[in-house]
Order: sequence, then C-alpha cells, then structure tokens
Amino acid sequence: MTRFYPLKVIEKRQLTPESISIGLKIPDNLKDIFQFKPGQFVMIEKEIDGHNLRRYYSIYNTPDEPIIRLGIKLKGADGFADYVMQHLKPGQTLNVSIPMNDVPFQFDNKNPQKLLAITIGSGITPFYSFIQYILKHQPETKLVLVYGNESPEKTMFYQELHHLSQKYPEQLKIYEAFSQSDQGDFNRRISPEVLNEVLQKEDADFDATYIIGPDDLKKMAAKVLEISGISKDKLHYRVYS
Ligand SMILES: Cc1cc2nc3c(=O)[nH]c(=O)nc-3n(C[C@H](O)[C@H](O)[C@H](O)COP(=O)(O)OP(=O)(O)OC[C@H]3O[C@@H](n4cnc5c(N)ncnc54)[C@H](O)[C@@H]3O)c2cc1C
Repeated sequence: MTRFYPLKVIEKRQLTPESISIGLKIPDNLKDIFQFKPGQFVMIEKEIDGHNLRRYYSIYNTPDEPIIRLGIKLKGADGFADYVMQHLKPGQTLNVSIPMNDVPFQFDNKNPQKLLAITIGSGITPFYSFIQYILKHQPETKLVLVYGNESPEKTMFYQELHHLSQKYPEQLKIYEAFSQSDQGDFNRRISPEVLNEVLQKEDADFDATYIIGPDDLKKMAAKVLEISGISKDKLHYRVYS
C-alpha cells in the first residue's frame, strides 16, 4: 500500500497560462526517504468533491536541493491540476508518496554519452530534471532534445531551456516543433519528417534514446528511430497522456 506524507507547499508559480510549478519542502526527518534521481515521480493523493484522486507527477528539479518541484499542466476542469491552479496556496500541505522509479535514464560520468530525448507538453518534466543534472555532473555528455508544443507561450520551461542551450551549446541542442507558431525549428507537430531531419543533422549514433508522451507519439517516434538503425535496446519510452 502506498504511504503518503504531508509535505508543505512553499512555492507556487505560473509557468504558462495552462501550467503551474509547485515546490514541496522536504523536512529534515524525511530527507533520506525522499532522496530522488532525475526521472522519478511522486504520487499525490487529494480528495476533491468526494473523490479520492491519485495523480502522478515527475520531479523536474535536481536532487541537490531539499525541495521537490513539480510542473503541472491543466488537462481539463475538475481534476487535480485544476485544483492546483485555482485553489492551492503556499503554506498548505499535500499528501505525497516517496519518489518512485520511472524513466531509466542512463547516468555515466566516465564515458561520453550522446542521448536523444523526444517529448511534447508536460512530458518535459523528467527531461528537465535530467538535463539540469547532466549539464552539472556529466560535462562530456551531449543531449539532443526534440520538444513539441503549440507555441513558445505555451511551452513549459521555454526560457529556462533556451538559457541552458545558450550556456552549454556543446552539450545541449534543442529542436522546437511548434504546431501553432512560426517560431522554432519546425512549424508543425513532431512527425516522421521532423525526426528524420533531426537524425540527419545530428547523426543517428545515439547511446540511448528516450520518448515520453502519448502512445501515438511513442509508436511513431520508435518506428522512425528503429528504421534509422537505432537498436531496440537503446530505445526507452514512457507513455504519459
Ligand atoms: C508517471 C507519470 C508522470 C506524470 N507526470 C506529469 C507531470 O510531470 N506533469 C503533468 O502535468 N502531468 C503528469 N502526468 C499526468 C498526471 O498524472 C495527471 O494525469 C494529469 O495531471 C491529469 O490529472 P487531473 O486530475 O488534472 O485531470 P483528470 O481528472 O484526469 O481529468 C480532468 C479532465 O481533463 C480531461 N483530460 C485528462 N487528460 C487529458 C488529456 N491528456 N487531454 C485532454 N483532456 C484530458 C478528462 O477527460 C477530464 O475531463 C504524469 C502521469 C504519469 C503516469
């Protein structure tokens, strides 16, 4: 049975018109059990209108701070994300599980790695944690991110990711696909054509590839990567809807 711990909300900030960041303080007596790795998520339990909701959220910060930050995107009215947007205030507590395993990111600070990440929307949260961690702890690792959204305004961590790719141009390359904006590298959703162009520019010699998103994105991207010669054991994915 999952055990939940009351953690205090100490930060709340708008990321985009439809997404919010919240910060949960990890008290000293829970530091050991709340230790996490990039790619892990927590489960939050909340009773809303008589319904006991349990929702998963990936941690987007790095383990260096005594805080868990979550980036929560609104999917529709009446759910947990709507509650966070409308009602949750700093000072309140949320019932949170300890971090659980999720995306099997490859950590290797001895050998240079070349990694590919493909995601859309709120699927960025585990990657954002991983990217920050890699840039800090694995200076030899190169990461290529293909990130799809409607527009820059609706992109979670848009400014932060730009800042990182400018600061670490040798390590982080971002390809942005905007379906409703003429900015970015591609003015359409992530498609086989988009991925093939990225693979051509970056050479398809990745040590590991990660896809996070809905099932149709996963199936399409996995097929393109396989056809390009990337072996199945280098392909990792998580389906988030
Ligand atoms: C391992 C894991 C990690 C996750 N990490 C994150 C994360 O970091 N950030 C994040 O924002 N989410 C994340 N999710 C999704 C999250 O757990 C919730 O499912 C999401 O926030 C919706 O919950 P809700 O209670 O707000 O909405 P719900 O109560 O589930 O739904 C409310 C309304 O929205 C509609 N709706 C729900 N989903 C969609 C959709 N995809 N498209 C259109 N309409 C929809 C429903 O039909 C309903 O009408 C993750 C999921 C998993 C499995």
